[in-house]
Amino acid sequence: MAKVEIKDDITYLTIYRSDFERIGEGQFYSGAMHQCAGFAVIDKRRFKQYQQLTDQKFTTEFVIVIYDEMRVVYGDKVLDIILSHEVGHIKLGHLRMTDEEAIANKTKIELEADDYAAKIHGKKAVHRALMKTVKVLAPIFAKYEKTTIKAVLEELTTDSIFAHRLEALV
Ligand SMILES: [Zn+2]
Repeated sequence: MAKVEIKDDITYLTIYRSDFERIGEGQFYSGAMHQCAGFAVIDKRRFKQYQQLTDQKFTTEFVIVIYDEMRVVYGDKVLDIILSHEVGHIKLGHLRMTDEEAIANKTKIELEADDYAAKIHGKKAVHRALMKTVKVLAPIFAKYEKTTIKAVLEELTTDSIFAHRLEALV
């Protein structure tokens, strides 16, 4: 069963592999981008899907979903930085944007959330956390895209939103 914690008006929902299976296969695939990275901020429009994983009714406006296995993969320090980035998305109003607005401003909102995290942890630490994320994601992307980890790493660090984000943190 998923675990619920409420802190500063945000619900932190820790979910496990069995929860993924309950959400369903399709969700797990899109999870390659979000949940496998470990974290997703969801707004009310998406509560229903995750609400079924816990008996505790969501009472906050936003929920941050944490994939428990990623706690081990990232460690507490990096986890803390990633969570600050996710909180940044909430505090900076990114979840109030329409899907169209969010897509049109994809890079901008990521840079803003990184900046929010950097004000708490420092640019260097956020850069390190982002590099760790890239390394965690590379094998997952490589598997789905049927290519090599090296090719994905190359792409992520030279021509992607990640590349822009890394550059902004130097
Ligand atoms: Zn983000």
